[in-house]
Amino acid sequence: MSWGPCMMYYHCPNCGKKFSYATDLIPEFGGDFGKCPVCHTDGVYEKEGARTLDDAEYAEVE
Ligand SMILES: [Zn+2]
Repeated sequence: MSWGPCMMYYHCPNCGKKFSYATDLIPEFGGDFGKCPVCHTDGVYEKEGARTLDDAEYAEVE
């Protein structure tokens, strides 16, 4: 029952930004995967799972 990419969710320990990455973009981002889109600090991993409709508080990095 999966219909989209698996997402990994993070928050930034520096600026508090919440953001998410699609795991299928790992090859594209490489070492930048999981970094804050605002200040480029390594994000703190929270969870992963299918994209949900209530994840709007997380900015998707793409
Ligand atoms: Zn940040």
